[in-house]
This record gives sequence, C-alpha cells and structure tokens, in this order.
Amino acid sequence: MTIAIIGPGAVGTTIAAELKAILPETKLIGRRKQSMTYFPENTSKAITIDVSSYDNMNQTFDVIIIAVKTHQLGTVITQLKALAHPDTLIILAQNGYGQVQRIPYQHVHQAVVYISGQKVANQVTHFRDYRLHVQDTPKTRELKTLLSSTKIELILENNIEHKIWYKLLVNLGINSITAIGHQTAKILQLPEMSQLCRNILEEGLKVAQSEGIHFPKQTVDDIMAIYKGYPDEMGTSMYYDVMNQQPLEVEAIQGYIYERARYHQLETPYLDSVYIFLKSYHRQFTQTESE
Ligand code: NAP
Repeated sequence: MTIAIIGPGAVGTTIAAELKAILPETKLIGRRKQSMTYFPENTSKAITIDVSSYDNMNQTFDVIIIAVKTHQLGTVITQLKALAHPDTLIILAQNGYGQVQRIPYQHVHQAVVYISGQKVANQVTHFRDYRLHVQDTPKTRELKTLLSSTKIELILENNIEHKIWYKLLVNLGINSITAIGHQTAKILQLPEMSQLCRNILEEGLKVAQSEGIHFPKQTVDDIMAIYKGYPDEMGTSMYYDVMNQQPLEVEAIQGYIYERARYHQLETPYLDSVYIFLKSYHRQFTQTESE
C-alpha cells in the first residue's frame, strides 16, 4: 500500500511520522520541499521528517490523507489528478463538514480528528492523542489493519455523520465566542457570554436534528460542561487564527451549519450573527487564498 499525507502541519506531520516508522516510503507532501522537526508527545526528542513538494512526485498513491486547513483545500484538489488513481482511498483529516463533495473521487471520507498539536514555522509539537474516526468500509478496514502497528488509532464508525456533527457542535460554540470575543476560554466566566454560547449551541443542535442527526436532550449541557473543564488560558484554533491575523475555517464550521439551516428554513439568529461576523473577518484573506 502506498500512502501520501498532504499538509505538513500539526496533524499531517504526526500521522506521517507514525506511518514512516512502518512504511518508510510514505510521503509527506507540502507546498515546498523542506524538513520538519517533529516533537512527539510534547517531548524534547526531535525527529526530522522530510517533506516533498508536488514537483518531485511521479507516482500515484493507494491512500491519500489530506491534513490542510479547510480553506487550503482548493489548491490541494487541483493536485490530486497527478497523485490519485481511480481507486485511491482519500481521507480528509480536517475539522468541519461539507468538503467531501468537492473531491471528484469514488472513495472519499471525512475523518473526525482527535490529534492535538501545533505547528510553528517548521517545528511541529504533538501534544496528545492519535485518533481518527472514519466510516467503516472495506477500504478503511484495510487501512486500519495496516495502522494497527502504529500509534494512530483508526476508529471505524457505522454512522460517521453523528461523530462529525458532534465535533462540529463542540467547535461551533467555543470557537465562535473566543474568536469574536478575542479572549481565551475565560470568556465563559461572564454569565451572559455563557448564555450566548448556549444559545448558539441550541441552534446548532436544531440544525443537526433537521439533518436527521439525533442527539440526546442533554447534549448542550454536556458540551457546556466540556467547555467548563477548559483551563481559562486555553485558546481555540479560531481564536489563535484571529489573534495571528490568519484565515479561518469558518466556511467548513459555522458556514456549513448556516447553509444547512437555510436549506431547512430554520430561524437561527445567533448562528447567523456569528457566521456573518466571522465570514466578514475571513473575507480580507480571500483575495490571496484560494477560497
Ligand atoms: P496546520 O498546522 O496549519 O497545517 C496545515 C499544513 O498544510 C501546513 O503545513 C501548510 O503549510 C500546509 N498546506 C497549506 N496549503 C497546502 C497545499 N496546497 N498543499 C500542501 N500543503 C499545504 O493545520 P493543522 O493544525 O494540522 O490542522 C489540519 C486540520 O486538522 C484542520 O482542519 C484543523 O482544524 C484540524 N484539527 C487540528 C487539530 C490540532 O490540534 N492542530 C486538532 C483537531 C483537528 P504552509 O502553509 O506552511 O505551506
């Protein structure tokens, strides 16, 4: 089995490091040829992982794992023709939803990613977890067998949509308020903010139900309890993106839920407001980014 990982960031480098240990021919592909310094499990033991550029590729792969940010996907799709064959298994290791339909191949799956890490320049620090959830299919089962001798846990799901929506909802509340409020998780200390976050989640849950994804009644309470467990100083990816003046994954998270809300003609005033604020912020980058 030949494998490529596209996107030498926190998630992609972690997956590549584990795969290279059992399949040294595994390629980590980036926009340019470079070397990443990878620190597994927040240790100081550095591993060098080589990144190949698209120009150096003259083969197709049986499995391609795409781990770029969702707003970076457009340019990756244009490269797939040279890297994928009709039977390639393509896994999107990204947050958000709605990206699968953009990829014109037969075996494309959205994964739910539980790998925590951070990339700064060409250094990647992996903090914790190595987990990806994907739909159970003959091809993903084959990949799971291959990965069983690595730390990457591939969890096969009968209903991946449920897992995707749960992560979408968890991202929806805290990412929205920390990014717009320019504050870390301590923003939830203000009771009115906590109520606002709850209102956003209630609307997200309503959209999920209309999509036929059913969650128990206490789901919003459960997610609020997860947020409560976050240390005050903890930021979210969208908070850091705003603070660092970077594009946001807004279209794949708030934008996707907003679009589904419009489709079902639901009234979602809190969701609409946060989406419009974040979209407006993100628009400043769309002249230079592909989407
Ligand atoms: P990241 O660290 O920013 O990595 C993205 C990588 O993709 C960067 O190295 C970037 O390189 C590269 N890239 C951009 N455009 C590319 C292209 N056209 N071809 C090849 N490579 C390209 O992002 P991440 O944190 O790994 O996140 C990836 C996905 O996983 C996101 O959807 C994120 O929400 C999700 N996720 C992340 C975490 C986490 O803890 N990090 C946890 C759960 C889920 P350059 O821009 O330097 O060229």
